[in-house]
Amino acid sequence: MNIERENSLKSSYIIYDITHFTHLDYKDHLAAIFWFSSCNMRCDYCYNPEIVFAKKSSYSLMDALDFLKTRVGLLDGVVLSGGEVTLHNLVFFIQEIKHLGFSVKLDTNGTNHQTIQELINLKLLDFIAIDYKAPEYKFTHITHSKKYKEFSQTLDLLIKSEMAFEVRTTLHSDLLNEEDINFIIKDLKKRNYTNKYYIQNFLDTGSNIGDISAPHKVFDKEKLSQELELVWR
Ligand code: SF4
Repeated sequence: MNIERENSLKSSYIIYDITHFTHLDYKDHLAAIFWFSSCNMRCDYCYNPEIVFAKKSSYSLMDALDFLKTRVGLLDGVVLSGGEVTLHNLVFFIQEIKHLGFSVKLDTNGTNHQTIQELINLKLLDFIAIDYKAPEYKFTHITHSKKYKEFSQTLDLLIKSEMAFEVRTTLHSDLLNEEDINFIIKDLKKRNYTNKYYIQNFLDTGSNIGDISAPHKVFDKEKLSQELELVWR
């Protein structure tokens, strides 16, 4: 590694935390998770406010690589999560991860399609999980961002690419109802998405950005369209 690259990795304190081991977050992999600080959304149900609003982070990119070096042969994957990972320039970092032999999964809200396209072109990603937060008519209400168009561009680019990826939605039934989820399913079909569609129930950890509690409304799964294979998490 050249000095310039090394210095840049050493000075980039952008990782809020490291999960040393998971077999749940990256299918068929034993992985570490790097939690990147900052996000360009403010989803009401987000249970990582300390990461989204982090003023400082605990680990540099070099710290993360040093950790990974101790896991060669023990783990085979790395999950890049956050926060929103694509707010950071991670080309060098992911190249180093790949040199160590790890597969890389990216969790993203899909708002930086150019960054994602670049990482795909450089063959730095093995899997992407993209959040479909809400239909366009509720997108800003739930995410407190005006990024639907950017998300939509990323979704289209993934569908047209050869990239392995999944689409997922966090469901809080006071925020999204059966009609909204059916709208998303229809939209995915229209865009020629053919993979499984993952729906994860809101996790009430007691702390979230919108200060919301468990949903009051009952969600009737029976009302959902069967046009795509649904997987509940
Ligand atoms: S849930 Fe929303 S606010 Fe939280 S990290 Fe993901 S995109 Fe950002």
